[in-house]
Amino acid sequence: MSHKKIHLCLAHMSGNEQRFIDEAFADNWVVPLGPNVDAFEVELKQYLTDGNASASSKEVAVVSAGTAAIHLALVLLGVGKGDEVICQSFTFAASANPIAYQGATPVFVDSEDASWNMSPDLLDEAITDRVAKTGKKPKAIIVVHLYGMPAMMDEILAVAAKWGIPVIEDAAEALGSEYKGKKCATLGDYGVLSFNGNKMITTSGGGALVCPDMESKKRCVFYSTQAREPFPYYQHEHIGFNYRMSNICAAIGRGQMTILEEHIAHHRALAALYSELFAEIDGITYHSDPTPDSKSNFWLSTILIDPKKTGVAPEDLRQHLQTLNVETRPLWKPMHLQPIFADAPAYLNGVSENLFSQGLCLPSGPWVTPEDVKMIVSEIKKCVKD
Ligand SMILES: *Cc1c(COP(=O)(O)O)cnc(C)c1O
Repeated sequence: MSHKKIHLCLAHMSGNEQRFIDEAFADNWVVPLGPNVDAFEVELKQYLTDGNASASSKEVAVVSAGTAAIHLALVLLGVGKGDEVICQSFTFAASANPIAYQGATPVFVDSEDASWNMSPDLLDEAITDRVAKTGKKPKAIIVVHLYGMPAMMDEILAVAAKWGIPVIEDAAEALGSEYKGKKCATLGDYGVLSFNGNKMITTSGGGALVCPDMESKKRCVFYSTQAREPFPYYQHEHIGFNYRMSNICAAIGRGQMTILEEHIAHHRALAALYSELFAEIDGITYHSDPTPDSKSNFWLSTILIDPKKTGVAPEDLRQHLQTLNVETRPLWKPMHLQPIFADAPAYLNGVSENLFSQGLCLPSGPWVTPEDVKMIVSEIKKCVKD
């Protein structure tokens, strides 16, 4: 096993992070809040809304995790006990867990097979059925841009508008992805970003909530800093959270912003190479942008393996690559198949279960080289029958 370990997506520093951290220490801003928090928010807002007039009122609040951002969005939308919230089934559990934190019930909706994200048709069916069964509308819709691939947002937003239900975009994996020239996380009512160690950029751990306007950002910051009312003593009229990002994490984030474009270009270049190389293997489909409207950041590169044509299962490939020190992973196991959500209503069409049984995530991060990609594809080719 002579190869270096090749990870799915490992954090990578620009070199500027340390400078922002040193400044924070020099100024003794080793606390939550502070100048880096404010500056990181300004930089994110600029990045997300640049050239998009329809997003100019958006404001960004940075918090301790992407999961916290989803939770805060639900709080701000008034989701509580007894409510239902629609959530894409094909996702990571962090998309759905905050629904349970609020004592609400997730209602899972399956995917379409072009982007692999929430099916707009099934979404409409699910809402129609929930209204018929419960007599009330779901309180929110959580749509995910999984692996960085934008969902069919025009169609999703049209269904949401028809029913008057707000949309939360889980763009935790989709920083830099675009839909019709607009950045993911700015298309819905609220947008969620993650800066966990394995995402497009990292703050060691952190996230952001993209809010529709300054008023909602203020409420987000209020709830994320213990919901303290403006009195000289500590007065509380709402249940708050300790979810604000620290000034040190924001320093890392500011350093990472200087290398964000480079990271995205690298992920896209690897994707183009994977796509070209896999085109020559019958029975393996590389997951590319399905239409010109979609511009994925290709956070992870993903493939589907036809067991009949290739004679192999994703698990065979995973185990073979593991012996070469290459990390791969099955696609996300859908939420409607998870024991924790066994009782939740689900509207299904078989797409996510099929993706889960046939898919594999391949290394795509800043440390992965074109030579690594060639080696990975040629090793996969060895396993496939001619
Ligand atoms: C990573 C991730 C989250 C959660 O983000 P954290 O910052 O790790 O809390 C939510 N949704 C999806 C789809 C993710 O991949």
